[in-house]
Amino acid sequence: MDRADDGGPFDPRDRPIPELIARAEAVGAPAEAPRRLLSAILQHGEHDPAAWNRRFHVPRRLVADWPPLPRLALERVETSAADGFQKLLFRTADAMAVETVLIPLHKPGAVSVCLSSQVGCPMACAFCATARMESRRNLATWEIVDQWVQARDLARSQGRRVTGTVFMGMGEPFLNYDRVMRAGDLLRCPFGGALSAKAMTVSTVGLVPEIDRFTRERRTMRLSISLGAATDEKRAMLVPVASRTPVAEVMAAARRHAEARRQRVMLSYVCIDGLNVGEDDAEAIGRLVGDTPVRFDLIDVTDPTGRFRPPSAEALAAFRDALTRHLGQPVVRRYSGGADIQAACGTLAGTG
Ligand code: SF4
Repeated sequence: MDRADDGGPFDPRDRPIPELIARAEAVGAPAEAPRRLLSAILQHGEHDPAAWNRRFHVPRRLVADWPPLPRLALERVETSAADGFQKLLFRTADAMAVETVLIPLHKPGAVSVCLSSQVGCPMACAFCATARMESRRNLATWEIVDQWVQARDLARSQGRRVTGTVFMGMGEPFLNYDRVMRAGDLLRCPFGGALSAKAMTVSTVGLVPEIDRFTRERRTMRLSISLGAATDEKRAMLVPVASRTPVAEVMAAARRHAEARRQRVMLSYVCIDGLNVGEDDAEAIGRLVGDTPVRFDLIDVTDPTGRFRPPSAEALAAFRDALTRHLGQPVVRRYSGGADIQAACGTLAGTG
């Protein structure tokens, strides 16, 4: 539940922006008051209402009796010795662990933030450490936004700049759709996170009603659909909950999205040695995708338990060649780093 949902004090990070604007109008605050307020919180990291008027000229009548906004407690920051990925471990007020990752980008000094949307995840993907945590609850919008603000502040303190954000951390973002979208709106708005929509990506394992809703609502964030496998049999083994929907239906929703958006839809694929990287898998992917415009991202599985291993360099190269042949569309290898600090895709488990 959001704070406001359960009768708590109004928190501008939890509510849709138009609601804040209406609230400002209702108390006769000037039109720029909501902009100043969101800028104070998101751009300057100021969470104490007492400072909003003094430093940012937010009218007192708008925020008169608000208590300081709650924050996640940052418990630990780990840095990968191999590639500079950083993992932030947060603790919520109800003692849940939430992890966030800072991902160095190719451009020097630029980083992307990988945000969590749930504590644990009920989707039960076989190769994912988050699935092995107890699935506890959705994160509130403010808890998603605060991960971003604290990760951004850490990056700033290191002389780096956040230029992108992905909703690919702990949890299935489309199971917490409204709050994730609200967080996206705050991070995208020019007086909030000021990110470009193109630099924001939300990932799903294939929840068709939510993919269609995302398309219908003309959301401007990019969409990435994680397939797991191209046949229902293999998906049942690797992404069991998502596989209750036939993969052909997931692909049909992806196609509707690509057509509405008039751009390629991103499909991501976790590569697992001996399981989903054969010639037959490449052929099945080609058949499944058909002429839907896609960008196909290959990611090496990272499984600290050792049950699933990434393919060898040769096996991956052969799969990529086969895929390029059967798909005839861009195939990209996506680097999933921070393996030494359990920050790679599928390894976030709130254990540090
Ligand atoms: S891969 Fe994503 S959707 Fe699957 S269990 Fe892990 S966090 Fe959930």
